[in-house]
Amino acid sequence: MQSWVDSIHARARTRLGSGRVASYIPALAQQDPERLGIAVYTNAGELYSAGDAGVPFSIQSIAKVLLLTLALRTHGEALWQRVGLNPSGMPFNSLAQLEAERGKPRNPFINAGAIVVTDRLVGSFATPDKHLQDVARRLSGNVSILIDAEVLASEWQHRSRNAAAAYLMKAFGNLDNEVDEVLRTYFSCCALSMSCSDLSVALNFLAADGHARATGERFVSPGMTRRINSIMSTCGLYDAAGDFAYRVGLPAKSGVGGGIVAVVPGRMTVCAWSPALDESGNSVAAQYALELFAEELDAHPQEA
Ligand code: GLN
Repeated sequence: MQSWVDSIHARARTRLGSGRVASYIPALAQQDPERLGIAVYTNAGELYSAGDAGVPFSIQSIAKVLLLTLALRTHGEALWQRVGLNPSGMPFNSLAQLEAERGKPRNPFINAGAIVVTDRLVGSFATPDKHLQDVARRLSGNVSILIDAEVLASEWQHRSRNAAAAYLMKAFGNLDNEVDEVLRTYFSCCALSMSCSDLSVALNFLAADGHARATGERFVSPGMTRRINSIMSTCGLYDAAGDFAYRVGLPAKSGVGGGIVAVVPGRMTVCAWSPALDESGNSVAAQYALELFAEELDAHPQEA
């Protein structure tokens, strides 16, 4: 497995130089586009990594997986009265469908959907962002995971589009709490800094029927795990979810920090990170690394 990861890292490096680092959150524009990390965490508890796998980066929309998981744990199926379950076919920050669909976002992995999910958590926890940080620490076994205050401040300052989505949903009665509080909490969760190694370990419960190896607990049920993986497959890479499903075929979630986490159910989690993004906001080199990884899985169906 270590030799797969090393060879995938070397081959994916050829994609460095394509794409552009996110600049609509100015703090993210400072990222080095030459970074590339890959980490694989198997259900047996082995971690394999290459390149910048230990470097913390802004997880951004990957936080939406943890937000959704916490909201399903606290609100169950009632959550789906507030947010839909279908791909949007639109950019992650689009407002186009929200007006026509009366403030109910298509799914929990576009921004509007994650803002609604955050609103549910604001109603259930005193400090949902601190709770999420604590969950990320426990699931990854890394107590030094932090919310990056500079990224949070930068996103807050440039919040117009997310604020527009939140106010529209508030006008339709789909947000219970104050817009500013919900947005701050959502940005704070997106501003968590984690490495590829942290994320591959933290999200391994999705490959292990909901069992979190680092804490020894069943974090969610097998059925809920299957459902979260399904939404990742259909909506995890926004309007490019279909392309990614064809090329890689694994449930995955991306973020504009350049990270993507993919799940091989029953076997392992993989996280790849490289900051330069394509037009859909998905990392060019990380997508390629995961495509190469899927090809290795095809070639070695029994390993790991
Ligand atoms: N925090 C980012 C935003 O709301 C997340 C977007 C993303 O990673 N696709 O714009």
